[in-house]
Amino acid sequence: MTNTPVKRLPPRRPATAATAPVVEGNASGPTVAARQHLLETMLDQFPDYVFAKDRQGRILYGNRVTIEDAGFDHADELIGKTDIELYPGEISTMIHALEQDLMERGISSLDSEEPSISHHGGARWLTVSRAPLRASDGEVIGLVGIARDITTRKRAERQLIGQAALLEMVAKGGSLDTLFQALFGFFKEYHPHVIPSVLFMAPDGQHLTVGPEAGLHPDYVRAIDGIEIGPAVGSCGTAAYTGEPVFVADTLTDPLWEPFRFAPLTYGFRACWSMPMRSHHGEVLGTFALYSPTAGLPDRKQIDLITFAANLAAIAIMRKKAEEKIRHMALHDPLTGLANRQYFDERIGDIIEAAAAGGTMVACAFLDIDNFKMINDSLGHKAGDQLLRTIASRAKARVHASDLVVRLGGDEFIILLSDLAMDPAAAAARLEAIRVSMSAPVTLDGRTLQVTCSMGMACYPLHGRTADELLANADVAMYRAKDNGRNNLQLFTQEIDTRTLSRLSRREELREALATNQLFLEYQPQICLESGEIKAAEALVRWRHPEHGIVPPSDFIPLAEEAGLIGELGEWVLIEACRQNRAWQAAGLKPITIGVNVSAPQFAAADWVLRVAEVLGETGLDARYLELELTESLIMQDVARAIDTMCALEDLGVGLAIDDFGTGYSSLAALKRFPVDRLKIDRSFIADIPGDRDGEAIASAIVSLAHALEIDVIAEGVETQEQLAFLRGIGCQQIQGYLVGRPMAADALAARLATAPAGRSPV
Ligand code: C2E
Ligand code: MG
Ligand code: MG
Repeated sequence: MTNTPVKRLPPRRPATAATAPVVEGNASGPTVAARQHLLETMLDQFPDYVFAKDRQGRILYGNRVTIEDAGFDHADELIGKTDIELYPGEISTMIHALEQDLMERGISSLDSEEPSISHHGGARWLTVSRAPLRASDGEVIGLVGIARDITTRKRAERQLIGQAALLEMVAKGGSLDTLFQALFGFFKEYHPHVIPSVLFMAPDGQHLTVGPEAGLHPDYVRAIDGIEIGPAVGSCGTAAYTGEPVFVADTLTDPLWEPFRFAPLTYGFRACWSMPMRSHHGEVLGTFALYSPTAGLPDRKQIDLITFAANLAAIAIMRKKAEEKIRHMALHDPLTGLANRQYFDERIGDIIEAAAAGGTMVACAFLDIDNFKMINDSLGHKAGDQLLRTIASRAKARVHASDLVVRLGGDEFIILLSDLAMDPAAAAARLEAIRVSMSAPVTLDGRTLQVTCSMGMACYPLHGRTADELLANADVAMYRAKDNGRNNLQLFTQEIDTRTLSRLSRREELREALATNQLFLEYQPQICLESGEIKAAEALVRWRHPEHGIVPPSDFIPLAEEAGLIGELGEWVLIEACRQNRAWQAAGLKPITIGVNVSAPQFAAADWVLRVAEVLGETGLDARYLELELTESLIMQDVARAIDTMCALEDLGVGLAIDDFGTGYSSLAALKRFPVDRLKIDRSFIADIPGDRDGEAIASAIVSLAHALEIDVIAEGVETQEQLAFLRGIGCQQIQGYLVGRPMAADALAARLATAPAGRSPV
């Protein structure tokens, strides 16, 4: 037993001087001897260690287990020795001091749990109770003690604590590597002779790749890396294949080990016990195995531990996978699978740093699909999504692994080429090839079409030294490409910079513009050809930019839509137009209709009709003097819903016109169901007439269509007398255009209305 509690008296020995006081007063003679014999027999059969020591810590008595535990046969060998003599070492010294202290103070100590060593030198734990041994006068002359081996319980406790620590590690989500190292350390403590090893299921679900292990031979590890799983592929290959534990008692004879028969003798193991690591859905994630140097099956405790380890590892792996998935989701665009803005932001710093260190160039290109909004609106979002995916895969197919393709949102992409020679022309050629590849025909929703893209590029370090500068300048170049008629690539130059405002900063400026009344309306008259009267005017919004002067709506309406500002902007226009129209009426001018353009997100808002009614109420304008201009693509996004909204607006008494008619995709069948009052022929059809056969044919067709549907028709963009004459000829009764008047301030229009009291226009 322990160093400490060892002491015994020789069996059937007369009581020593030290023990005499204890038996003092007992009966003497054969009765005493019989009693003592009985007592010693009892104590010798008692499984706990019972001992007594004198004041110096010399053993006075030890029962049978105590004698044997010290490695002796007879009590004589033990009596008179101290713990320090029996078990030299730190623990004995400590126990000696503790017992001296107890005797000094004359107190007992119960159930003290103490480390100890056996005579074999093995570590163990005891629970020990000690009481002072007193002479009849009460003087402490030694101590008696009883001790019990609690090593098994202590081990179980420590194992539980170890398991709890591992569980906590998994719960806290440390790295897999750390977890496995801790798990292996745990095994080493309880099963020092076995070697734990982990194999992971490869993504194909058919092979195992080597994971962490704790001491297998490197050649063996190499030999099993990437093995294909199957019904008889060693312990792990089989366990992964069947999803069941496979405990092979002898790797030299078991048929499952046929393919690896070379291994056991060469690498020094005989048994291999493998447990599949499974997700909570039952999916096999890999195997946890123990290699034992001796043949045999694992015992119950080992099986429990392997099961625990495999379960724990599975949880940790699942957690890691979930984390990776979440991280991937946070950094990628779900639609195209491309990296997203956040990923770009995380990486760009390093990319620029690497370029700076290596003296290389980085080309950053903005790519934007031309007229994407129209395609998306007219063919539907599903087709739009499909187009975005196609663009993404075409871009990906043409860049190198070290390059980056990012979807910023909407139809905006960034292509970042790195590790380039300082040659912007060569980079531009590569980007141009990517851009051109986008125009290959694409089939969307059964229709084959061709899309084009605009691109702007800026290079590090020539056109910007920080990520923000590069992005802003590429963006500016892209806008130049759009201005150049789209479908082209522009390289950033300082000259562009001064002329084009970065769209990113423009977004912020637009917010500011709304807040500080930088927007204003102009009004363009529309006349009836027959009477020459101004019947209506279209309200057109402008932005008085503090630095850039008057900005046209085509430059900021799409921006407002993208930035979610269109609702606010559109509402401002509606209120201002209604208010102005009411003011003209109040000033005694002949009532006209005011046309207000509506954008798709505005029209789609759930409370739109209600808002229109409220604005009419607030401004006091009669509903019949308001006409809302809707585009075909806006209506076609969701025809059924659009018809409902249009009917509700019609019920309010508001007029409805289809703007830019002929450029969208409205089917004639659907047109019949729209409660519209007017078609506005797009000015692109008017621009080249007379002379342009197509334009003439389309304009005539639209006019006939309107007549057939018994609705009004107006031609937009009429600039010349020739156009006017042609339109008259085909029966178009109303026109809007520079010929009649450019968009003008409210006062100017009022003057026009006033100077032509009958409303007659000079046309
Ligand atoms: P739109 O509704 O088709 O407006 C007619 C556009 O044609 C106006 O351009 C007008 O200035 C221009 N225009 C009129 N007559 C002629 C002509 O004889 N020749 C030429 N070349 N052009 C002519 P603007 O003001 O630049 O507006 C462009 C577009 O911006 C508008 O097209 C409309 O779609 C949109 N827009 C304007 N104001 C608003 C608004 O308040 N809300 C919304 N959502 N869109 C607006
Ligand atoms: Mg319009
Ligand atoms: Mg128009």
